[in-house]
Amino acid sequence: MDFTDVTEVFVNENSGWAEATKVLAAFTDAAVAAGVKAKVDPVFVPPMEMNLSPVVSFFTPELVDGRMVPAAIVTGIVNLDPQKGKKYTEIPVSVHAIKTTRGEIMPLTAPLIEDEPYTVKFCRDESFKKTVKHEASGQSFSMPPDSPDQDQKNPTEGLKARLETVKNGILGEPGRSVTIDEYRVCWDAVTPNQDFVITAHPHCENLYVATAGSFHGWKFMPTIGRYVVDMLDNELEPTLAKRWAWDRSNEGAAHGNLLPTLELRDS
Ligand SMILES: Cc1cc2nc3c(=O)[nH]c(=O)nc-3n(C[C@H](O)[C@H](O)[C@H](O)COP(=O)(O)OP(=O)(O)OC[C@H]3O[C@@H](n4cnc5c(N)ncnc54)[C@H](O)[C@@H]3O)c2cc1C
Repeated sequence: MDFTDVTEVFVNENSGWAEATKVLAAFTDAAVAAGVKAKVDPVFVPPMEMNLSPVVSFFTPELVDGRMVPAAIVTGIVNLDPQKGKKYTEIPVSVHAIKTTRGEIMPLTAPLIEDEPYTVKFCRDESFKKTVKHEASGQSFSMPPDSPDQDQKNPTEGLKARLETVKNGILGEPGRSVTIDEYRVCWDAVTPNQDFVITAHPHCENLYVATAGSFHGWKFMPTIGRYVVDMLDNELEPTLAKRWAWDRSNEGAAHGNLLPTLELRDS
């Protein structure tokens, strides 16, 4: 493991992880069982003169105007055989903020289904934009690749090399023979201080926004709905309403090193 220039190690013994795909499926099943009607709506395409969409995510950059930027990070999964996999379950989730490694390892515990492999996830803590010029309006903004899955499974060779640096920095020499089996490029909408935007739009009646942050939106899934409902009912606690407002000071940064510093074409 590369500990060049390390001066501080912070240990959080209460940290943990949960598997997104299975959790989301269980969450949806529980909601349906509780009476929620699952419905897939056709994508709403806003009329040009409105230039607004009821759903804001990294798909709708024209709305954001400096309040959030569509950006992405690269992650990768290593599938391990059961013998090696067990060993990895004993090591902690760790974030190696040092410049030479700049990434994370998330060793997963035993697979929930017998035939599935043990897996270890690596993540590069460095985000990038994909700035494009919109010919009709002359505006430039960042947006994910224009393909159905935003090319999530096909990072550039440069991004793969950056993730390789993370893997080798964390695992050291033995890591060089470990092959990353799958990649995911994770797009999200990042705000200048990484706080969410959960608010009524100040200039468009009946438009409510609940999105953005710092690539960490998923882990708030069990609790965030309560605040969104409070916002819709106009009962959001004033400090939170101020913090998550559309127009705000954006002071500070919860996770500033995840603001995009790269362009995809330069990766
Ligand atoms: C590969 C990957 C790994 C991640 N890993 C983690 C992690 O480990 N931990 C963590 O906390 N977070 C993680 N995240 C981030 C997390 O998933 C996001 O922060 C979160 O999903 C953002 O929620 P959202 O509601 O803003 O947007 P989304 O979850 O993107 O939801 C937006 C929804 O709007 C829909 N939509 C968009 N436009 C329209 C339209 N015009 N009409 C109708 N529907 C529309 C989309 O289909 C989508 O369902 C990861 C993300 C990715 C992609």
